Amino acid sequence: MALDIPIQYVKGVGPKRALLFKKLGVETLNDLIYFIPKRYEDRSNLKPINSLESDTYQTVLCYVVDVQEERVRNNLTLVKARVRDNTGEAIAIWFNQTYLKNILKKGTKLYLYGNITRRFGRVEIQNPDYEIADSDETIHTGRIIPVYPLTEGLSQKIVRGIIWNTLNRYIDELEEFIPIEILDKYGFPDIKSAIQGIHFPDSEEILRKARERLAFEEFFLLQLAILRRRMSLLEENAPIIKVSKEMEEKFFRSLPFELTNAQKRVIEDIKRDIASGKSMQRLLQGDVGSGKTVVAAYFLYVVASNGYQSAIMAPTEILAQQHYDRIGPLLANLGLETALLIGSTKEKEKQQIKERLALGELPVIIGTHALIQEDIEFKNLVGIVIDEQHRFGVMQRMALRSKGLSPHFLVMSATPIPRTLALTLYGDLDISVIDELPSGRLPVATYWASSEQRAQVYNMVRKIVKSGQQAYIVCPLIEESEKLEAESAVALAKKMQEEVFPEFKVGLLHGKMSISEKEEVMNRFRSGDINILVSTTVIEVGVDVPNATVMVIENAERFGLSQLHQLRGRVGRGSLKSYCILISDLNTEEARERIKIMTKTQNGFEIAEADLRLRGPGELNGTRQHGIPDFKVGNIIRDARMLELAREEAINLLRKDPNLSSYKKLREKVDTSRILEFLSTG
Ligand code: ADP
Ligand code: MG
Repeated sequence: MALDIPIQYVKGVGPKRALLFKKLGVETLNDLIYFIPKRYEDRSNLKPINSLESDTYQTVLCYVVDVQEERVRNNLTLVKARVRDNTGEAIAIWFNQTYLKNILKKGTKLYLYGNITRRFGRVEIQNPDYEIADSDETIHTGRIIPVYPLTEGLSQKIVRGIIWNTLNRYIDELEEFIPIEILDKYGFPDIKSAIQGIHFPDSEEILRKARERLAFEEFFLLQLAILRRRMSLLEENAPIIKVSKEMEEKFFRSLPFELTNAQKRVIEDIKRDIASGKSMQRLLQGDVGSGKTVVAAYFLYVVASNGYQSAIMAPTEILAQQHYDRIGPLLANLGLETALLIGSTKEKEKQQIKERLALGELPVIIGTHALIQEDIEFKNLVGIVIDEQHRFGVMQRMALRSKGLSPHFLVMSATPIPRTLALTLYGDLDISVIDELPSGRLPVATYWASSEQRAQVYNMVRKIVKSGQQAYIVCPLIEESEKLEAESAVALAKKMQEEVFPEFKVGLLHGKMSISEKEEVMNRFRSGDINILVSTTVIEVGVDVPNATVMVIENAERFGLSQLHQLRGRVGRGSLKSYCILISDLNTEEARERIKIMTKTQNGFEIAEADLRLRGPGELNGTRQHGIPDFKVGNIIRDARMLELAREEAINLLRKDPNLSSYKKLREKVDTSRILEFLSTG
């Protein structure tokens, strides 16, 4: 069956409504069949008229005794129908719908659904939904009815009617594509029952089952696609990187600290991958400050020591610069030259770097998006690190990959994410976790303060800065406008310098500053020349100044949990006791909850779970920049178990039949499913 026929040709739609449906993301017959209700109303429970209670929504089955039209004012006409069942009488009232007089003839049997009012012993139903009871099956009343997302020009009744007719016409043509063994194993309904059940369930139980199956279906298709892509990556041969004992020890000896066990473990993972002859695809997750950079440096080093080139790409110039300042000397010590390539690198120098990269004279390059410009070529790029990978799109990752020779890939993320989300987003990567902070780190003491307590907060900052340490003050987030945000940062910095902390040097950092301005400020902060840095969230990512031990966050309620956690990660990076003060006049339940979590835990994974829970998947599912597919039924929090099952079954099936050759329909579905669009660029 041609499920992809444009919706315009579906009965009851036509070109005009097709445009409205398009706004709802429904363009084909298949979209319509998978147009999932946003909620349901249980109108199945028929009530006798004499038992109707005020202020409840109820369904009654009754017949019309008589109908009258009543003109109340010039612009208000009522249609009043007297209706009866065998227990009593009620009045149904509609406003300005005079045509109803011709529909609701005396004796007509109908269902009414609406809010009940009892007035002077009389039962009234105002503006009820009605449906003529001329067949055994009802669409709009007398059952659990679906409530769809709408757009102006489409009503529930229209959409419901169209879907009802569509299912009647096409449901028998839907073909099952999930292997029958799987349906049986979990007791999932087949596709026809599931689709019927998600739109017009005959009971709560049927609805639950339908949902379960459709959520599984979505996750299953996604996992199959992800895993198949991964398999094709794994088939790719990649250069073998050998790491000798001496090579490794030379690196370890050059470090000013002992690696943590977690870091060592990740290094073992990497070593195994790059020696395997297949290309490494590994995600390194580690909380802020857990020490991912040195692991990246190790990887760059061993690749380069094998005579290949390696590269690390960071999302901002500040970060790239910081990596260069750290990794550069470390590798120089080991006899490897490093260069920095960012947007603001001088043209002449850029030219030189490009030439030397193409000739293979530069073993290690550190940079930003500048690295993926078209005219950048490598001689033999084999090791790639992407830092703070959530800041990059798949496209950008792939652009860098395409410059290499089936390169080994290490992507790093400081945003810890729950396992279910990791399976969704990174199902095609192996995952290593640094779950341990370098020893000697103290937890960041985190407090909440109201705006009235600001003076006390400033006194505390004063004391700490006087003792030689440094502070961040983070300005309120203004999401809509970087310009406004910058302006408020300027004003706050001025106030801090002139009124609050005249005895200290206050610096300013915001997104509207030029790269070199930002760099200068960061350098002065790093060197201790600036005592207090007023900043917008530009400091969020990766900035590392161990002597900064206190952070004040203004209007903390405006930040998301993960963002607060990232910000807080800028302090507590040395062995000094650190503080984070969240200033907020808590005004919503959710803000209160977020701040409570922040003061309670430092564990990034816990915070990520809570973030997901609080923001809800509605928000998450929509946010494409996170790279999360738009699930229609599945919800990665509520349906976490389904997601795990889908993963498991997808692995089982692909083990048995890697090309899905015995599952033609399933394979077709995997190849065409729109849920995979978020992956397709890879
Ligand atoms: P992140 O994982 O957030 O990128 P970094 O790599 O910037 O963290 O490391 C944070 C700080 O911890 C840096 O100053 C780094 O030098 C230091 N560090 C990393 N590993 C260790 C270790 N094993 N022992 C002590 N300090 C470490
Ligand atoms: Mg980092």
